[in-house]
Amino acid sequence: MEETSVHEIDFTLINEFFTELERQGPGSAQESIRALGFINHLTSNAKIADLGCGTGYQTFVLAQNTEASITALDLSTSSIDKLNKKAVHLGLQNRVKGIVGSMDSLPFQKEEFDLIWSEGAIANIGFEKGLNYWKDFLKKDAYIAITYESWFTQERPMEIEKWWKDAVPEINTIGHNVSIMQKTGYIPVATFILPETCWTDHYFVPQKARQVEFLKKHAGNKTAEDMIAFLRREEDLYAKYKQYYGYVFYIGKKL
Ligand code: SAH
Repeated sequence: MEETSVHEIDFTLINEFFTELERQGPGSAQESIRALGFINHLTSNAKIADLGCGTGYQTFVLAQNTEASITALDLSTSSIDKLNKKAVHLGLQNRVKGIVGSMDSLPFQKEEFDLIWSEGAIANIGFEKGLNYWKDFLKKDAYIAITYESWFTQERPMEIEKWWKDAVPEINTIGHNVSIMQKTGYIPVATFILPETCWTDHYFVPQKARQVEFLKKHAGNKTAEDMIAFLRREEDLYAKYKQYYGYVFYIGKKL
């Protein structure tokens, strides 16, 4: 049987599945705070853009650990609605604003931001393309902090190589990605690998109950069934091959 490619998964369905979860990609509050530790303290005049924010798990970590104003952007209207409701609920609506938009066509001013943040989203427009394009929206000496799928080793078993080449054709090693940061106009400040619990406890485990509920709701819908099969395969492959890849935080400073 031919495996479903990530590119064949219906955006509406994936969106419906994930917006009910606390986060939409691997990560954790602890690791976001660790990344923030490499960045100058952001005062109340500072501005952050959180790109591909989803429902805003990390947006609120940033809000609670800086004094900055944050604009969070995502293509998904339902995610942005959730984010803005949560901002009101937490009394943060004056500092946190979600907007619908695309990461490759930003509605911002040149040199507007002190920090651009993006967890698990840049692959949608490309690592090098994103770094290049986003740079214009950063002030001089401002920071970028991104998580991105990366190879840990020079060689990988064919099965996992094939999976990732399909999902993220540009996937590469940490060393290569650091050189891309350098080439696109940033000083590489730090990189670190997200611990396994960012995938297991914070990404795969919360999906389990949601998968069952989702299959029940969409019983007989082949596209929905294929999507859940894809997500389960992603988890199985992670368990099997996690020594070869993971998410890496890349922190850079604009030259
Ligand atoms: N940062 C969140 C969400 C990561 S999932 C977290 O770590 O939990 C990736 C997000 O990117 C999804 O919410 C998806 O809707 C969004 N996305 C995909 N393509 C996009 C684009 N071109 N512009 C903006 N957002 C996009």
